[in-house]
Amino acid sequence: MTEVLIAGGGVAGAATALALHRAGLAPVVYEAHASGGEDAGAFLTVMANGMAALAEIGAARAVTEASYPAAAVELFDAGGHHLEHRAIAGPARTLSRATLYRVLQDLAAARGIPVIHGKRLTAAAVTGGGVEVTFADGGRAQGSILVGADGLHSPTRRLIDRQAPGPRHTGQHVVYGYAPGNPAGGAPDAYHMVFGGRAFFGFTAPGDGRTWWFARLPGAPRPGGTTAAQWRELVLAAVRDDATPAAAIVAATGGDVVGGDSYDIPTTPHWHNDRMVLTGDAAHAASPAAAQGASMALEDAVALAAALREHREPAAAFAAYSATRRAQTEETVAASAAMGRR
Ligand SMILES: Cc1cc2nc3c(=O)[nH]c(=O)nc-3n(C[C@H](O)[C@H](O)[C@H](O)COP(=O)(O)OP(=O)(O)OC[C@H]3O[C@@H](n4cnc5c(N)ncnc54)[C@H](O)[C@@H]3O)c2cc1C
Repeated sequence: MTEVLIAGGGVAGAATALALHRAGLAPVVYEAHASGGEDAGAFLTVMANGMAALAEIGAARAVTEASYPAAAVELFDAGGHHLEHRAIAGPARTLSRATLYRVLQDLAAARGIPVIHGKRLTAAAVTGGGVEVTFADGGRAQGSILVGADGLHSPTRRLIDRQAPGPRHTGQHVVYGYAPGNPAGGAPDAYHMVFGGRAFFGFTAPGDGRTWWFARLPGAPRPGGTTAAQWRELVLAAVRDDATPAAAIVAATGGDVVGGDSYDIPTTPHWHNDRMVLTGDAAHAASPAAAQGASMALEDAVALAAALREHREPAAAFAAYSATRRAQTEETVAASAAMGRR
C-alpha cells in the first residue's frame, strides 16, 4: 500500500484520510495541535454538497448524529422587519468546527488510520521516489506523496510555490458566541439573520439549550490577544441600535465567545507539484458568507481520492484533481466575497 502523508487533521485532512483509505491507500494524518484546531470554537453548516461528500466516505451518519438540521434562513432588517424566508437545500447540518474535526478524526482512528497530534509540518522535500517531511519537533516522515490540508496559512502552499499568494483580509471580523437559552424563541432548524446597521448578525437555537450566534462586522485586522470579552463588547456596540434580539442575545453571553479577522484566498496558481498537493482552505479559502468552506473541503477529499484511484502517476492524478475542482472553488470564493461585501 502507498503511504500518504497528510499535513493537517481538520476538515480537509481527516476527510481526505477517510477518502484515501476507501481508495486502498494508506494515509497518515499529522496534526499540528495537541487536539482540535485554531478557531475551533466557531460553528458551521455543512451544506447538501458537503453532506453528499460525507456519504461517499461513509461519514454522513456520524456527522448527522453529532449535528442539528438547518432547514431555513429568515432574513430581517435592522428595524426587525421580516424581509424573506429562504429554504436551505437539504440535508444541511449545523455543528461546531471542533465537533466536525472530532467526528472525522474518530472515524479515521476507528478505521485504523493513524492520526498523530502535536506534529507541525515545517518543511518537505521531493526525494527520488516520494517525499520527506520535517516537523517542528525535529521528527521526520517519508511517504509517496504529501497532501497539504494545513488550512488558511498552509506551509505546504509555499513549499509548492514560494510565490504563492497569501490570505487576503476581507475587511471584516467574524465573531461567534453561545448564549444560554433561546430568548428569541427561534425554531430549532432555522437561522435568523439580520442586515443590521453596523453588523450582519445571525443566530440559531438548535436544541442544546443555547443560542448559537455569529456576527460579521467591518474592521481592520486586530492585534493578537483580543479577549473574548473584547470581541463580545465589539459586537454589542455594533448591534445595540438594531431593533432585533441581537443585543439581548450578545448581552446574555458569558465568556463563550471566539473572534477573529476574516480572510479568503481567491486563487492559488499552483495546487500541486509532482509529489505534493493542496486541499481545502490551503488551496481555496472562502470567507464565511457562503457557508461553503467545509463543504468544499469535503468535496476535495472525494475528488482527490477518485483521481488517485484513476491515475497511477501522482502528478497526473493531481492535475486531474485540480482541473476538476479549481474553477468551481474559485467561483464560490468569489461569490462568498461578494455576499460578504453586501
Ligand atoms: C469563522 C469561520 C466561520 C466559518 N463558517 C463556515 C460555515 O458556516 N460553513 C462552512 O462550510 N465553512 C465555514 N468556514 C470555513 C471552514 O471552517 C473551513 O473552510 C474549513 O474548516 C476548511 O477545512 P481545512 O481542513 O482546509 O482547514 P482547517 O479546518 O483550518 O484545518 C487545518 C488544520 O491543519 C492544521 N495545521 C495547520 N498548519 C499545520 C502544519 N504546519 N502542520 C500540521 N497541521 C497543521 C490546523 O491545526 C488545522 O487542524 C468558516 C471558517 C471560519 C474561520
